[in-house]
Amino acid sequence: MPARHILVINCGSSSIKFALLGETAEQPLLHGIAERLGSADAVLRWQSAAGQQQQAVPAADHRQALARLLPLVEAEAAGRLGGIGHRVVHGGEHFTAAHLLDQPTLAAIRQVSALAPLHNPACLQGIEAALSLYPALPQVAVFDTAFHQSMPPHAFRYAVPEALYREHGVRRYGFHGSSHRYVSRRAAELCSLPPNRSSWLVAHLGNGCSTCAVVDGHSRDTSMGLTPMEGLVMGTRSGDVDPGLHGHLLRELGWSAEQVDCMLNQQSGLLGLSGLSNDMRSLEQARSAGHPGATLAIEVFCYRLAKSLAAMSCALPQLDGLVFTGGIGENSALVRSKTVAHLRLLNLALDPEANARCVGGPDGEIQAGGHPRVLVVATNEERQIALDTLALLPN
Ligand code: AMP
Repeated sequence: MPARHILVINCGSSSIKFALLGETAEQPLLHGIAERLGSADAVLRWQSAAGQQQQAVPAADHRQALARLLPLVEAEAAGRLGGIGHRVVHGGEHFTAAHLLDQPTLAAIRQVSALAPLHNPACLQGIEAALSLYPALPQVAVFDTAFHQSMPPHAFRYAVPEALYREHGVRRYGFHGSSHRYVSRRAAELCSLPPNRSSWLVAHLGNGCSTCAVVDGHSRDTSMGLTPMEGLVMGTRSGDVDPGLHGHLLRELGWSAEQVDCMLNQQSGLLGLSGLSNDMRSLEQARSAGHPGATLAIEVFCYRLAKSLAAMSCALPQLDGLVFTGGIGENSALVRSKTVAHLRLLNLALDPEANARCVGGPDGEIQAGGHPRVLVVATNEERQIALDTLALLPN
């Protein structure tokens, strides 16, 4: 059978990110974004071997943008488009793995959307548009939460009344599943260890950040919870705060629930702490110039990350390695060194030269001699989604 190509689609409320991947290649043949959808300046940008291109798509919605995009994809795939993989943020407890899209699957995704009202409706818009444009092409939903469905109850339950779990699904779900899955497998390959018999701590550090304990290829704990707000300090999200903060702000400052949500989601994290930026690169530059807010934001970010990794180690039978990934994890030698410095009790230590070398470059090991492995591994969520999609296509 000739190699098949997979189109991976990731829909936000006003954007569609897309990538066309070959069956065996790590890097996409074509990738891009349709953004500012619904507005007069909606635009479709893409990159392929032919270079960067863009098309204005004024006022296009998700369906119209996809209708423009799909012919480009088909031309690039040269008749070998085998399927579409859709990233879906929340699969609740219903989805423990990727699933072929049909009407019952769509209904189940709609049902869990109450758990992710900001994210799943956008995913559904993209899925419905792609299904109506290509009804005969196999399409697959790949869930950010599915990898973490292997967490045991002592890791996923909150200490709140049981009825909230039973009747309303209030529990920890975790996100970034495709990334944690992809990099933990890659780390095992790089170290010639069997993925199904090795244990990893993973720190996915991008605009959103989470840690994960991966044992024998399965997630045993992760730092995000019911929503992607729990856990680490992120670009604009606070991560963990005292649950008493919500009531305090409502009672003492007269804030509404929406104001609290907005503050914790969009005005907190690195941005809130630094008063400057949500972007780690900008904060590193500002820190070098002596900016106190940027300095504090980086200190809090690294300390909280180290605390989370130490906590995740409770889920591991042994530590085969700590893996850094995501834009910050793959590029910030400073964040890696500050974080690992807090983890002396796990006997972790870095080789400063190897750490400085692993910036925007190839994957590699950066630990000091005689210490447990620390790796930098580039994530590739699109590749993982394409692999999960391929696995469900009819042969
Ligand atoms: P992602 O969401 O994975 O694209 O990651 C975005 C984050 O990675 C932003 O905070 C960027 O500032 C950060 N980042 C990207 N490159 C670098 C770099 N060279 N040094 C520090 N942070 C970086």
